[in-house]
Amino acid sequence: MKKIEDIVRQEQNKIGAQEILMPTIQSSEIWKESGRYDDYGEEMLRIKDRQNREMLYGPTNEEQVTEIFRSSFKSYKSLPQLLYHIQWKFRDEIRPRFGIMRGREFYMKDAYSFDVTDEDAFYSYNKFFLSYLRTFKRLSLTAIPMAADTGPIGGNLSHEFIILADTGESKIFTDKRIFDLNSEGTKLEKSSLEQLRTKYEQYYSVTDEKFNKDEFEKMVTEENRLITKGIEVGHIFYFGDKYSKAMSAAVDLPGGKKDFVKMGSYGIGVSRLVGAIIEAKYDDQNEIMKWPLSVAPYDIALIPMVNKNDTSALEKANNINNELIKHKIDAIIDDTDENFSSKIKKMNLIGAPYQIIIGKKSDGDLLEFKETGGDTQNLSLDKIIEIITKQKVTN
Ligand code: ATP
Ligand code: MG
Repeated sequence: MKKIEDIVRQEQNKIGAQEILMPTIQSSEIWKESGRYDDYGEEMLRIKDRQNREMLYGPTNEEQVTEIFRSSFKSYKSLPQLLYHIQWKFRDEIRPRFGIMRGREFYMKDAYSFDVTDEDAFYSYNKFFLSYLRTFKRLSLTAIPMAADTGPIGGNLSHEFIILADTGESKIFTDKRIFDLNSEGTKLEKSSLEQLRTKYEQYYSVTDEKFNKDEFEKMVTEENRLITKGIEVGHIFYFGDKYSKAMSAAVDLPGGKKDFVKMGSYGIGVSRLVGAIIEAKYDDQNEIMKWPLSVAPYDIALIPMVNKNDTSALEKANNINNELIKHKIDAIIDDTDENFSSKIKKMNLIGAPYQIIIGKKSDGDLLEFKETGGDTQNLSLDKIIEIITKQKVTN
């Protein structure tokens, strides 16, 4: 999860967002100002402090970040502001399930944008649109932006980022051709970002809340229709002055007037992504998990054949590991003396993307190397190091 978090962080920083850290426990006062203290309902975990003041465990942070914004920024000159944090959230979900996929406590990256005009705000929105496509690509996921409902966050422009999975809880209706698109070549400039949005929005792609049968059938020819299920890994919203107006977050404009700032919010389910990647990458027929190298718990598994009388293969594994460490390649060694096929099965599930198998007869310079789930090749350690290092650079 920490490796996923790092990629999410890097891609936020690349669009000029600034990291902050807000607390998990919030005062009810700001939620009363926005009107959501009553609206949010049973999903909000409400608690009291020793003075009997009403507190809550944050399910999201629009109110809190608006409070920080209004006490820190007074002028249009300070805008835009793109602020984010990566922090635990709590939602008392009616149906928590599938472990980390829908937990009550979960880890989320949430960002917030503040601008003077709608036009500037759309520019900020599009920066996040790009950063989400880049983030999911680095996690080796095909996440499709879909026009979505805004739900309790409110507002009128919103996209959910969804990856396909049979176990997913979101029903989706798309034009298949959207899967061939990517964000390559897009620059962090207004017109380039607008082109990116237009490129994606030319294809019908919605979740069930926005689904309209007539529209779908009109816009998508039969052979391009795809109706399936997916997992929501990210969600972006534009909601204008919904919170800034209710909570009086205004800035001075050039002419001397004041106006409420225009805001958006942008979430990624960091802990849900751990489960989502497993759903996407686990091959249940062959019982093989292969993590994307960018977030794999280990780069490679060393699997020596070990028994009480003969530990030479284990020694060889240790020597290989010392060499790998020098090249910053992170290995897991299965040093147990379990039978060989159960060791392979276990390592196939742990899911390091590469394996070296060190049998009894393994001597000489060539090693039995493979991509987890792939075919074995006999290669020298130098060659193996070269392959993995090259792959790491592209992440
Ligand atoms: P869902 O429809 O799945 O409940 P949401 O629309 O309520 O999601 P947002 O408020 O947009 O979610 O939160 C941003 C992201 O946080 C979601 O896209 C999702 O990846 C993640 N997320 C939301 N709720 C949970 C949860 N209970 N457990 C794990 N991750 C979650
Ligand atoms: Mg929800």
